[in-house]
Amino acid sequence: MLHPYLCAGLSLPRLVVRDVARFRLGSHGLQVFKGRISDPPVPFAKRACPCCARVEGVRRRVVGPVDTEHHLLFKCTATEAVRQKYPRLAQMNDLRRLFQSEDVSAVAHFVSECMRVRGV
Ligand SMILES: [Zn+2]
Repeated sequence: MLHPYLCAGLSLPRLVVRDVARFRLGSHGLQVFKGRISDPPVPFAKRACPCCARVEGVRRRVVGPVDTEHHLLFKCTATEAVRQKYPRLAQMNDLRRLFQSEDVSAVAHFVSECMRVRGV
């Protein structure tokens, strides 16, 4: 059975459907993915979000939240304006709940816009 966002694909812009597919497959530019495929892999805890991370101490250690799909949609400072545009979806703060939402089109646009703001 096709996921609803794919069934709704006929009424959604092709780029939006592509973004949602990449998001759900984990094939995007977030550090959680890039760190996993790099050689050698970057430890999970060191895959910090480039928008939210800060450099600390004389060793210039990078500290910050891991750049995950959840961080992108619900926590990242770079996507705050998108969350304000979709407050009901942003308040879910849960990926499973988000993708079970009835409003497939809004979810798809929310995900796509967050990815575009971050360029991932
Ligand atoms: Zn961030």
